[in-house]
Amino acid sequence: MLKKIIIIMISTCIIATLVGCSQSTSGAKEQGVNSKTQNDQSKLKVVVSFNPLKEFAEAIGKDKIQVTTVVPEGVEPHDFDLTIKDMKNIGSADLFVYSGFGMEPWVDKTLTSIDNKDLMVVNSSKGITPLKNSAGEVQQEGQYDPHIWLSLKDAKIQTKNIKDALVKADKKNEKFYEKNYLDFSTQLDNLYNEYKTKFKGVQNKNFVTGHAAFGYMCRDFGLKQNSVESVFGGGEPTPQTLKQLVDLCKKDKIKVIFMEQLASPRVSETLAQSVGAKVQKIYTIESSEGNKTYLESMKENLSNIYSSLNQ
Ligand SMILES: [Zn+2]
Repeated sequence: MLKKIIIIMISTCIIATLVGCSQSTSGAKEQGVNSKTQNDQSKLKVVVSFNPLKEFAEAIGKDKIQVTTVVPEGVEPHDFDLTIKDMKNIGSADLFVYSGFGMEPWVDKTLTSIDNKDLMVVNSSKGITPLKNSAGEVQQEGQYDPHIWLSLKDAKIQTKNIKDALVKADKKNEKFYEKNYLDFSTQLDNLYNEYKTKFKGVQNKNFVTGHAAFGYMCRDFGLKQNSVESVFGGGEPTPQTLKQLVDLCKKDKIKVIFMEQLASPRVSETLAQSVGAKVQKIYTIESSEGNKTYLESMKENLSNIYSSLNQ
């Protein structure tokens, strides 16, 4: 009998720890206060799934929020598995922001197991028209292409969704959030408008990259990505795919093969060698790279794609 009670007590503790029940959540908050500065205490605790959302949230919330990212630096988010610590972190937040369209397959399960009725959940893809994956990709990658943040237009919608949630959670700072949104979205618009004009004047719309992450960017500018990888997070192309890419590179006189940090470079390098092209870096922004901001990375990507199409 005693053994049974102990087992029940232990299980209850484990469940409470796992789901971050309201008691342990407030306990964690109180504990946190001691180690934090007075200033941190007043900040909204925002947890985002991965890197670009951190920048969007910080662009709006600035010093009024404290952002932590679930997927660690240098980890490919497509292959990411959530830990119990991550779940506790999300469970104790004021706001949880994710990208959507299957980028975080762990979200639904996580949210049903978190018991924090005050947690505000932001699906930042709300209002964005998804791009469907091809039949072959659906099985491995899900129904939709998840790389919305690489479109300046869609990044603006994601940022607006975050801004709306911050206004709702912290009404007294509404003007501050609205002003920051206006500043950031103007920068997104300016970059979009600059390249909308530039790409209009380009004849060759094809570019070749490792990771098929630029579908939404292509939709913005009428471009076409040709991906070396057979799947988003890695994988070798079939011999036919590789032959098609070689033919395309020759036909369109492609001089640059773009390559991402977190994807495997080997196939891109082989392809580049066989068609006499050079390999150049492109940012998926899935993890932060080289201390560049979202806008800096996007500017560099667009500028490099544009000049590769003009060679
Ligand atoms: Zn990706």
